[in-house]
Amino acid sequence: MSKRDYYEVLGVERGADQKDIKKAYRRLAQKYHPDRNPDDDTSAEKFREVSEAYEVLTDSEKRAAYDQFGHAGVDGQGGGGFGGAGAGGFSDIFGDVFGDIFGGGGGRRNPNAPQRGSDLRYNLELDLESAVAGTSVDIRVPRHVECERCDGDGAEPGSTKETCPTCHGHGQVRMQQGFFAVQQTCPTCHGSGQHIKVPCHKCHGEGRVRETRTLSVKIPAGVDSGDRIRLNGEGEAGVNGGPPGDLYVQVAIKPHHIFERDGRHLQCEVPINFVDAALGGELEVPTLDGRVKLKIPAETQTGKLFRLRGKGVKPVRGGPAGDLLCRVVVETPVNLSEEQKDLLRSFQDSLGGSNAQHSPKKSSFFDGVKKFFEDMKL
Ligand SMILES: [Zn+2]
Ligand SMILES: [Zn+2]
Repeated sequence: MSKRDYYEVLGVERGADQKDIKKAYRRLAQKYHPDRNPDDDTSAEKFREVSEAYEVLTDSEKRAAYDQFGHAGVDGQGGGGFGGAGAGGFSDIFGDVFGDIFGGGGGRRNPNAPQRGSDLRYNLELDLESAVAGTSVDIRVPRHVECERCDGDGAEPGSTKETCPTCHGHGQVRMQQGFFAVQQTCPTCHGSGQHIKVPCHKCHGEGRVRETRTLSVKIPAGVDSGDRIRLNGEGEAGVNGGPPGDLYVQVAIKPHHIFERDGRHLQCEVPINFVDAALGGELEVPTLDGRVKLKIPAETQTGKLFRLRGKGVKPVRGGPAGDLLCRVVVETPVNLSEEQKDLLRSFQDSLGGSNAQHSPKKSSFFDGVKKFFEDMKL
């Protein structure tokens, strides 16, 4: 199968810059991504094709070789080629492109280039009251920070780094392959061009150490499950002097024993006794800022919703506070004395047989049941 031109695959001009190439790739990769097109061989092939084109055209050396020699200039490089085109290769490229959407670490071009540290995520559970009122919490975050002993350099203070003997500081080695000389990352120094003679005693040459820091996080009033609070620069330390990543505090609200939250509205269930339900009365209902009196009219049924305006949550992004919806549930009396039972029996007698008058729902329900069985006989 002959390969399509890489520029054609991505739909960009030959002189397209990195930004345009990235943009084109991102659009196509999202379209053909295997997660979106399960069991679709055509999409899988397209995805492989655009990924390959992207990798070559964003690598200045591979692109130059491709521009000059076509596919022959970039195919079949030892080791780093596309060969089996394993999923690992794709996710690698993917991480690179989508990295800057999510603010992730940098690319894999020059290993000595400053790289932004990774972002971190912290899952924070809050009770409803704190989320509604806002609060401040201390969280402990384990992360990599720049090593103080060597200032992130990796070499023991006082010692020097020497030039890598394999690549003589270039970070790349040339390998002859047929007609072409191919550049590869130096296997000895992994591209840094330098060799650490005496690694720093504290970080063992990594330049970063793991540390658990306690951070005080201000939680604004009104946050809800799914909200994220970003702490600039509190993520992982950067590499080679790059800036640190950010820390995202991901909020989840714990279930509450009285209130259920639905965005800016709150709901609660209020049991009432059947005499209040029948005659009407005044109830005390809970709100987040104290008890409130609620008048209920006579003949209130189970399931009736009463709306208390403004007794919900003031949203974190502004706007008016939501409402509190109280759902009434009529409770059947329990533990009755003989005397109370007699009172109920005489009350029952007083109703007579007229369901339709005092229990219209029950009456129409049983009319429906009667009709149902009559229809079945046909
Ligand atoms: Zn080297
Ligand atoms: Zn160190």
